[in-house]
Order: sequence, then structure tokens, then C-alpha cells
Amino acid sequence: MTSAVLPTYARADLAFEKGEGAWLVSTDGRRFLDFAAGIAVNALGHAHPHLVKALTEQAGKLWHTSNMFRIPGQERLAERLTQATFADLAFFTNSGAEAVECAIKMARKYHSATGNPQRYRLITFEGAFHGRTLATIAAGGQKKHLDGFGPPVDGFDQVPFGDLEAVKAAIGPQTAGLLFEPIQGEGGINPIPDTTLRALRQICDEHGILMVLDEVQCGMGRTGKLFAHEWAGEGAAPDIMAVAKAIGGGFPLGACLATAKAAVGMVAGSHGSTYGGNPLAMAVGNAVLDVMLAPDFLPRVNEIAGRLRQSLAMIVDSHPDVVEGIRGKGLMLGLKVRDGIENRLLLNAMRDAGLLGVAGGDNTIRLLPPLIITDEDVAEATKLLDSACAAVSAQVKVKAAS
Ligand SMILES: *Cc1c(COP(=O)(O)O)cnc(C)c1O
Repeated sequence: MTSAVLPTYARADLAFEKGEGAWLVSTDGRRFLDFAAGIAVNALGHAHPHLVKALTEQAGKLWHTSNMFRIPGQERLAERLTQATFADLAFFTNSGAEAVECAIKMARKYHSATGNPQRYRLITFEGAFHGRTLATIAAGGQKKHLDGFGPPVDGFDQVPFGDLEAVKAAIGPQTAGLLFEPIQGEGGINPIPDTTLRALRQICDEHGILMVLDEVQCGMGRTGKLFAHEWAGEGAAPDIMAVAKAIGGGFPLGACLATAKAAVGMVAGSHGSTYGGNPLAMAVGNAVLDVMLAPDFLPRVNEIAGRLRQSLAMIVDSHPDVVEGIRGKGLMLGLKVRDGIENRLLLNAMRDAGLLGVAGGDNTIRLLPPLIITDEDVAEATKLLDSACAAVSAQVKVKAAS
């Protein structure tokens, strides 16, 4: 399998021809139940008629004008996102890393604009993932992402995951705020408990620093609320939040949302993006919201998530030699694979059975299905996962016996 594509991904030797809802059809005609959803991106599944219509209609009218001009779809999407959240303002990007990058810049600029330019450092958590730009790999702090790319961007102080005392101890005269995922995704589906989230908010208020959330993976309905921090109530609202992945349902789109207070330094000329928020992206972003903001959408996500979780609990019960537990919230679930069995082994067995998932840190497999999955999809996924676990179990036994 040689290719002119830069080999930065260890890809499966599998390509797809088309998608239908929660299903993908490969170029060789096999059907896969897609519980990877493009890594939590295809929240409305593949080829959702409302998104297809919005994109194709817009494609026939106008693709791009640049941000030198007003973009009505952008004003509309910003209005709807801010109506639905803590935020007053939105900046649109093409990816998650850019949304986080905007959030980092905004947090620094806030302190600069309010007379504390020395406050530029952000406290982050071990196991974090914030993207692959120079600033976001520094924020993520993972050696494997930083290695060989020169001195990491300065301004990030990492502490153990969710450790309140460590956060307090790390706050100094240069601290601008905290940056973290309410549920770590790449790290292996690690949720910050609601009480900790509220305590972190309080710590920020006490020190006059900003709470910056990265909801790139856990946001946009994934956990059963529009944004994951909402589970912890009003007392957990951030000042700034990065969003991406599901917000475009597969069209490259991200957003940085903020309160007017936190965004005070972001004036004309302070930040920009040529493509960010272009008419094509905005048509799709608005269409995604049409579906997600419908009153029965999130209740249905919670209902089906409960069903999936119950089924997974049965899998854990019947294959304790392969999987040892489930974690996460809503349809952002992590299956913890037993130590000594590599998560990729189960992931490959799932794929062979016709079920796609995503590997995560801490030897987990992430199950991130489209939010539109049906009862039948859950039943089918359970069946496929059951046979994949049985296959891995048999493989492990053969290996132990030889
Ligand atoms: C995927 C992800 C990013 C990066 O998004 P890209 O679109 O790949 O740049 C940032 N933060 C979190 C939490 C993510 O899951």
C-alpha cells in the first residue's frame, strides 16, 4: 500500500464509497455500522437529507466571499449558538485546533486588554488533547505530539487530571486561566465530575482568571446536552469555549464562543481566518442546528444512550476477560479493554465483524456513534461487539496456550 499521501496516519486498509445514516459501505461492497462517526463528527450520520439539501442549495448560489464582507449565514449561526449557550459572541474556524487556538489567544488578550499583560499562561490537564498546531500540542503537553518539533510554545502549565489542589498550587501571577475538556476524548473518555467542574469555575472566579473549555469532541449534543458542561448546571459555565467536530456534521467547521467580557480584547484586526465561517460552512452549520435544536432531539439522544449503555454493561458482564468497564456520558462512551490485551486487537476484531470504533488513550475503545442511531442499530452493534469480544477472547486463549 504505497501512496503519495504523507504517512502521518496508521490507516486501516479500508475505504468507503458511500454512507447512509449510521452505516458506511466500503469500496468493496461491505457494510459497516459506524460507531466512529469520523471521530464524533458525523453526529447526524451520513448523507442526512436536510444537510445534503442545505449544502447543495448553497453550492449553487455562493461559496465564498471572505470576511471582508458581512456573511448573513454567519450572523444567523452566531445568533443561534449564543442564544443556546452562555456565550455572547462567536468566531468561526475550519477546525478544532483553530477554535482552541482562538480561545488561547482570546484568553491572553483579555488580560492584556484589562491591564494584566503578564497573565498569559494557561493551566491544562494531563491526558489532554487540544489539536495539532504548535500552540495546541503545547497545550496538550503529550510527548509523542511534541517530539522533534522544537521548543514547545511557552505558556502552558500541566497538572494531574481534575486535581483541584494541583490547580490551586499552579495558579500564579502569570496565570490567565484554565483550559480543559469537560470529558477528555483522545485521552480515553475521562469525564471531569460535575462537582469538580463547579469547583474549577469557583477557583477561576476567586483568582480573576478565565475558564476555557474545549468541547470540540464532547459538545454539540454528544453527551445528551448541547454542551457537556451543562450537566454541571449554571455554576459551570465557561468564559470561552472551543467547538468543532459535530458542529458541521462532516463539513469542516469550528467555532470559538465567548462572553462579551472575555472577548473584550478581540477587536478589528486582532484575529482572522480566510475561510472561517464562509457561506458554504454556514449553510451546513445552520442546518445541523435546525436538527439538534428541535425539542425532541436531545431527549431522544439520552434515551438511546441509556439503551446503548445497558447493552454495553451486558457485554462487559459476558466478556470480563476482554473488557473491564464502560465510562463516559451520553453517546460519548469508552470501553476499557483489559490490561494485557491491546485495544487495537479488539478494534480490529470489531472492524472484521462490521463495527467501527475509535482507539483512545488508557487502552480504551471509544464508541462515538451518530446521535441519530436507532434501537435496531444498538441491537446490531451489541451483536457485533459480542462476536468481536468472543473472537479476541479465543485469540488470547490460543496465545496463552502456545
Ligand atoms: C479533535 C479535537 C481537537 C482538534 O480538532 P481538529 O479539527 O482535528 O483540529 C481539539 N480538541 C479536542 C478535544 C478534540 O477532540
